[in-house]
Amino acid sequence: MKEQILLLVELQKIDSGIKRMEIRKKELPGVLDKLREELHLSEEKMEDERKKIDDLYKRHRDGENDLKKRNEDLKKIKSRLFDVKTNREYQALLKEMDIISEKNDKTENDIIDVLEVIDKVREGLEEREKEFNALRIKQEKEIIKIESEINSIDSVLLDIRGKNSEIKGKINTDLLEKYDIIKQKRHGRAVVQVWEGICGGCHVNIPPQMYNELQQSEVLMLCPHCNRIIYWNDKNNGEK
Ligand SMILES: [Zn+2]
Repeated sequence: MKEQILLLVELQKIDSGIKRMEIRKKELPGVLDKLREELHLSEEKMEDERKKIDDLYKRHRDGENDLKKRNEDLKKIKSRLFDVKTNREYQALLKEMDIISEKNDKTENDIIDVLEVIDKVREGLEEREKEFNALRIKQEKEIIKIESEINSIDSVLLDIRGKNSEIKGKINTDLLEKYDIIKQKRHGRAVVQVWEGICGGCHVNIPPQMYNELQQSEVLMLCPHCNRIIYWNDKNNGEK
């Protein structure tokens, strides 16, 4: 019996491994999507900063062009000053020049402001670029790892299922049936270890008398609380 119980322990380990792997197999594509999405978001942030800088440079260029155009207007008006016949006309031209100069002042200030903002955004962009590059290096490694995990998980599962059948073949039918029923009722865990009197399945103390028996006897025993198959291993012996 002892040997059969040990086989059940082994079977349980394999079944739990299969279950974990099947869960992992389902979540891997999502993990991959998340990594790619994260990288994409970081890239978008970087592109946003680049676009901001492009827009600012455009504003800067537009301002410079406005200044150039208005300075030419000013020149033309100045040259007309010598030709005017009346004081009224003269005053009107001066007024016109004042208005243009005022606009120029505003544009010049705006250009200075824009240059300052460009400096700041540039710093931000450098930061975003660093972030993106660091993330890219990290994510690309991670993505390669997960892609290879996706590619190999089926063959690993196949292998582990083979081991599962092999062990099942060595366990007697009644016991296997019992194991399957408990496994189904207890969310995949039918065989659990008891250590220091506590059931590893339901974490409740089993009666001391029963714990003593479990340590010595070789019969199949069930936890009185959760009905799982229990076994005892002397952890101090270096076994696991
Ligand atoms: Zn229990």
